[in-house]
Amino acid sequence: MIELTGMNPAELTAWCKEQGLPGFRGKQIFKWIHQGADFDGMTNLPKDLRSRLQETAIAQPVEIIEKRQSRLDDTVKFLFGLKDGNCVEGVLMHYHHGYTLCISTQVGCRMGCTFCASTLDGCVRSLTPGEMLGEILCANRFLDGKDRVHNVVLMGSGEPLDNYDNVMKFLRLLREPDGVSIGLRNVSLSTCGIVPKMYDLAEEDLPVTLSVSLHAPNDEIRRQTMPIAKVYPMEELLKACRNYIDKTGRRVIFEYALVGGVNCEEKHAVELASRLRGMQCHVNLIPLNVVEERDLRGVNERIVSDFLKTLEKLHISATRRREMGDDIEGACGQLRRKTIMEKKQ
Ligand code: SAH
Repeated sequence: MIELTGMNPAELTAWCKEQGLPGFRGKQIFKWIHQGADFDGMTNLPKDLRSRLQETAIAQPVEIIEKRQSRLDDTVKFLFGLKDGNCVEGVLMHYHHGYTLCISTQVGCRMGCTFCASTLDGCVRSLTPGEMLGEILCANRFLDGKDRVHNVVLMGSGEPLDNYDNVMKFLRLLREPDGVSIGLRNVSLSTCGIVPKMYDLAEEDLPVTLSVSLHAPNDEIRRQTMPIAKVYPMEELLKACRNYIDKTGRRVIFEYALVGGVNCEEKHAVELASRLRGMQCHVNLIPLNVVEERDLRGVNERIVSDFLKTLEKLHISATRRREMGDDIEGACGQLRRKTIMEKKQ
């Protein structure tokens, strides 16, 4: 079975010709796929072609196998099933500027951050461009024509820059005019900081927002929770961020999860501010979402607001990330893990 979902119109046209079909079928199939249709719904294709395609190719490689709707807000958490039996998570959030979908880029993750549930069993495999697109197509089908996904954040399970080529191809699919047409300015890519790939990304001419999971004001603390910090010291990471800002003219977002007893004191905020001074950036504070299997503590509201105030006083642009879907295993990797564990029992 060949997955057609990750192909752009030119590739689909070429594929159709190889199959002995007229080239224009490629563009038709592309449009249908991006509308979320399977082959049987591609009504402007001859019936025999539709059934032939059904037997040999895949149009929709992802399906929703479980969904949880938050009672607190409009957030929906999906468990997406892939054709090989693996599953990944996605979260659909309703903001005033439209729907944002958080997608996964890998099944699991091999980065090993100690606070994160996605990495507990390592990385099973990377997702294809078609599977990443498929997550969006699922969410659009869920919205059932009433609305659609406007913004995408690559903040589900996996490290996008550890699946570099597939992620780049996926991003280029998003802005195809006949596709889901999501502007790359509405896309955020979050990385734990794979420095060489951050330089590559700056050369791609793709205007995505770069989010960097910093989570510490210095190397000593960062190394306690993020193994990648042992490979790339913070100074190198910040240099790569400055390069991204210079090359793209876009500010970088730093994610900072506040972990009780680790990185949330006033002196940490002061040190963070001094390292980020003069940079075109924004800090997103996230109270740690406590993961059962991990021995890390969360923080109370007071600690978050004090940390925020210190940063603001030192003229660092910062906000507290709104917590959404808190009652539906909101944190990275939690729902998938829960489902796998339940299946094992
Ligand atoms: N691998 C990428 C993207 C996936 S994680 C990265 O590291 O950025 C998306 C964000 O959620 C990251 O900032 C990650 O550090 C954060 N995160 C993961 N587990 C968390 C938890 N338990 N509480 C708060 N934030 C968490």
